[in-house]
Amino acid sequence: MRAMLITGITDLKENREPLELRDVPRPEPGEREVLLKVLTCGVCHTDMDEIEGRTPPPRLPVIPGHQVVGRVEERGRGAGRFKIGERVGVAWIFSACGRCAFCRSGRENLCADFRGTGRDADGGYADHMTVGEDFAYPIPEVFSDSQAAPLLCAGAVGYRALKLAGIADGDNLGLTGFGASGHLVLLTVRRKYPKARIFVFARAEKEREFARELGAVWAGDTGDRTPEGLQAIIDTTPVWKPVVEGLRNLASGGRLVVNAIRKEDTDKDSLLRIDYAADLWLEKEIKSVANVTRADVSEFLALAAEIPLRPEVEEYPLEDANRALVEIKERRIRGAKVLRLSA
Ligand SMILES: [Zn+2]
Ligand SMILES: [Zn+2]
Repeated sequence: MRAMLITGITDLKENREPLELRDVPRPEPGEREVLLKVLTCGVCHTDMDEIEGRTPPPRLPVIPGHQVVGRVEERGRGAGRFKIGERVGVAWIFSACGRCAFCRSGRENLCADFRGTGRDADGGYADHMTVGEDFAYPIPEVFSDSQAAPLLCAGAVGYRALKLAGIADGDNLGLTGFGASGHLVLLTVRRKYPKARIFVFARAEKEREFARELGAVWAGDTGDRTPEGLQAIIDTTPVWKPVVEGLRNLASGGRLVVNAIRKEDTDKDSLLRIDYAADLWLEKEIKSVANVTRADVSEFLALAAEIPLRPEVEEYPLEDANRALVEIKERRIRGAKVLRLSA
């Protein structure tokens, strides 16, 4: 089968073709696993964090990709949850131990043995992949293969961030960064909290325009001040400046949720500008989102189908995965980028 592989840690600024297209053996489904024929796979900033070594794969080469939509082609011994031909999704959570205190309390995303799809196990930048059937999700009919892909990470992790933000209907919510995740969170908020007012911070005017089109009441640059204090902000950027600037826009008691598996170090010195009195005092909080649980993914898919969410997607053939990654690196983003493996 064809696969795009991470073969070594590299910097995308110098190496614009970090992934290598290779012909590799098709995997066999193990016990209680299914073999999927991959239809689409979303491209995520976390793929870049792996390639650039911020969250390096423990073994190389590895096939990245953790927003996978595929059809069940074979079932391993003991696998019976899905029918052959059924369309299912795979998200970032590839497996967790199932026994520890975190796993038993619904916080399996914090399990010490958490394995990420496309980092700790091969993912969906390939014609086929295998996954434990308990870590796959039926994909609601209303979504096309491409629309479903970004829901599995950008959408589901965004949904977890929204839960952690703890807003009430009518609150002011800020979104800093307006890529794949930001735009899905905005659409979800409009459904779940119809009276919430959404404020979007984005560097590019094009992104701000897109945010207004989707219903943001205000859109400005990362360093701008909002006309009103915000009860919560969800940060989906890979850098620090938006966090520091965001804190200033929080209302007293407000919470800023950092939705990123890793941050880049490029502007880490921005953190020195945090002023305790202005930025953190009055019970402001900063909280991170680790990743996702299976419950987050299932709940979000159901909610997204009910809305129904129509993520804006751009499709690329598998061999153009490098181009899609470079465009994300350079923040040429409108909606979500998706690899199309098969029709
Ligand atoms: Zn992701
Ligand atoms: Zn565990």
